[in-house]
Formats: sequence, C-alpha cells, structure tokens
Amino acid sequence: MSKMKSLVKRYKKKGLWLEEKEIPKYGSNDLLIKIKKTAICGTDLHIYNWNPWAQQTIKTPITIGHEFVGVVAEKGSEVKDFKIGDRVSGEGHIVCGRCRSCLAGRRHLCPNTIGVGVNRDGCFAQYLSLPASNGWYVHPSISSETAAYFDPFGNATHTALSFAMVGEDVLITGAGPIGIMAAAICRHVGARYIVITDINDYRVKLARNMGVTKAINVNQTSIEDCIKELDMIGFDIGLEMSGNPVAFESMLENMYNGGRIALLGLLPSMSKIDWNQVIFKGLYLKGIYGREIFETWYKMEVMLQSGLDISPVLTHRFKCEDFAKGFEVMNSGNCGKVILEWD
Ligand code: NAD
Ligand code: ZN
Repeated sequence: MSKMKSLVKRYKKKGLWLEEKEIPKYGSNDLLIKIKKTAICGTDLHIYNWNPWAQQTIKTPITIGHEFVGVVAEKGSEVKDFKIGDRVSGEGHIVCGRCRSCLAGRRHLCPNTIGVGVNRDGCFAQYLSLPASNGWYVHPSISSETAAYFDPFGNATHTALSFAMVGEDVLITGAGPIGIMAAAICRHVGARYIVITDINDYRVKLARNMGVTKAINVNQTSIEDCIKELDMIGFDIGLEMSGNPVAFESMLENMYNGGRIALLGLLPSMSKIDWNQVIFKGLYLKGIYGREIFETWYKMEVMLQSGLDISPVLTHRFKCEDFAKGFEVMNSGNCGKVILEWD
C-alpha cells in the first residue's frame, strides 16, 4: 500500500487529471477510508470548468470531491467509535469545535469551516483521510449507491425540513438533483401539493417520477396557471433550489401571506428582489448552508428506513477512468446524480 489513483485539479484551466499519488497520512483521531463510490456535485463541476468562483477559491494542486461512500481501512489510535471494515460516508464540512456555534451544537454554523475537496484534499481518490468526528456509519439497510450522495441528500433534507410541512402547499424552484430529492422528502413528510419548476425538460421529466403534484417547464407553463388549476391562492412554503434570480422572483410573487421560504440555491450575491413581496405578505426567509451535523444525517437515514425512495435521482455511473464523461454529462444538464466508481 503506497500509491493510489486520485483526481487532481493540477492546472489552472478546464479539466481534471487522474494521477498516481501517495496514500494520505492520517492522524490519531482520523479515519483512512477506502473509497468505493463518489458522486459529482455542482461544486466539483465549477472546479472542473474553472469558473471565476473556482479561480478565486481553489489552491492547486488539490484532490477534489466530497460526496462518497467507502469502508474504514485504517484508523488513528484514539478512534473508538468505528471499526476497520465499517461502511461510512461523511460530512464534508470540517468545523473548529471551539467557536460559539460549535460549542452550542450548531456545527453547521461554524465560521471556521474547512471544506473537504475545496480547501483540503477530497474523496475523488482511492483513499481519503477524514477526522473520525466527520464520519457517518452507513446503516446496512441503505445501498452504497444512495450513501454515495448523502451529502446533497443532506442539503435537500436540511432545506425541506426547515418548516412544518404537513398539509402545506410547496413550490420548489429548480429540479436539479437537490430540488428533486427535496420534492420526494416533502411528499414523504406530508405536504399537500408540490409544484416543482425547471427550464430543462430532462429534469422536469425526472421530477415527475418523484411523486410531485406538478413538474413544469416555466418556459411553457406558468406558476400562476398551476395555482389556478389547483384552485389555490398561493404557496405556503417555497424552497429555492435553482440559484436563479428570475426563479426566486417568481417564487416571491406566488407565495401566500405568511409563507416561509428556504434559500439553498446560490443566487448571485447582488441579486435584487421586490421587498414589497416580503414585507406586505409577511414572508419568512431562511438561508441554508450545508446540513445540520449530525441531526440532518439522522433524519436522512430514518426517512429512508420509513419508505422514502430517492434512488430515481441517480441516472449515470462511470468508472473513475471515465471521469470526463461524467463531468460532460453534468455540463449538459441532462442528468440527475452522476456516480464515479473507484473499486
Ligand atoms: P443544479 O444546478 O443541478 O440545479 C439547478 C436547476 O435549476 C437546474 O436544473 C436548472 O435548469 C434550474 N433552473 C435554472 N433556471 C431556472 C429557472 N428560472 N426556473 C426554474 N429552474 C431553473 O444544482 P443542484 O446540485 O440541484 O443544487 C441546487 C442549488 O443549490 C444550486 O444553486 C447549488 O449551487 C446550490 N447548493 C447550495 C448549497 C448550500 O449549502 N447552500 C449546497 C449545495 C448546492
Ligand atoms: Zn466552529
């Protein structure tokens, strides 16, 4: 055991490079995880495409990736709560453990967060070194494919469970993988109507398999028409999952008074909104970052055990050597989750 395959951002231009690298070192409180499957996130795509955010954020060379499932291959001498061979996924936000948020158990709000695969070497490799406190034991009832995208499933869960959902009418803007998983969660936890929007027909069709009331392409059908057809006044809950200001504006216009909105999509930082919609309707807005560590993970596991099925969101699988095909299908938008296999 000495060298491993690793997907590296080596050069400051579009692309990634599959390289031979040393297996990472691990400390007394770390797990060394043998990676089985990883999933590609929008963040990885930004790094692959080398967009302005990536140019500002990423220090090359770095192994990218933060969505994974694997098994514990080695562990540090102080690690008590994992065994060699345990199947694990993990939280990609490494928090400081000492700030006010961390000490209060609100680790997802730590201001000193370090991102796996963004600020330190990630999981697109045969091995990953991760603090044991970030590991998540995967229950035997959960498939490895599903566990590989627990990270974005966590974003969907954190967002969808932000507000009481029973009997409510929900608008989700953006039928990307996270929007689609959020729709399935809303159905599972008792929403009445769930309307999801996109501008890409492939994704609208994918969303229709997830138990939504309506999945619409807003270039063909308006949200207003949906509201009329369903004989509603407006939506009680909005989940913004597109990152598109036009979508967010249409959400604000179609909320019922007192409605609650969770914002996950990364809107351009200087996007304008019509504040009259927020103030006169008495809307609540909540920003969402990451997922609650580990309360969201707990909810994810138990929702799967009580019948939630998110498997239709997985549409493509590639061997790690064929990573470029995976990134290009992500660039096309004609996909759900895309998995890379490292076995
Ligand atoms: P994605 O890019 O795959 O999905 C976004 C979808 O929005 C796409 O299918 C796109 O076609 C659609 N869209 C674009 N314009 C639209 C419009 N006007 N109306 C309706 N839909 C429109 O992304 P994803 O992986 O599903 O993630 C969803 C969003 O959440 C992204 O913006 C992502 O950057 C963000 N994100 C945030 C966090 C966080 O912690 N806050 C974590 C992960 C992802
Ligand atoms: Zn902290």
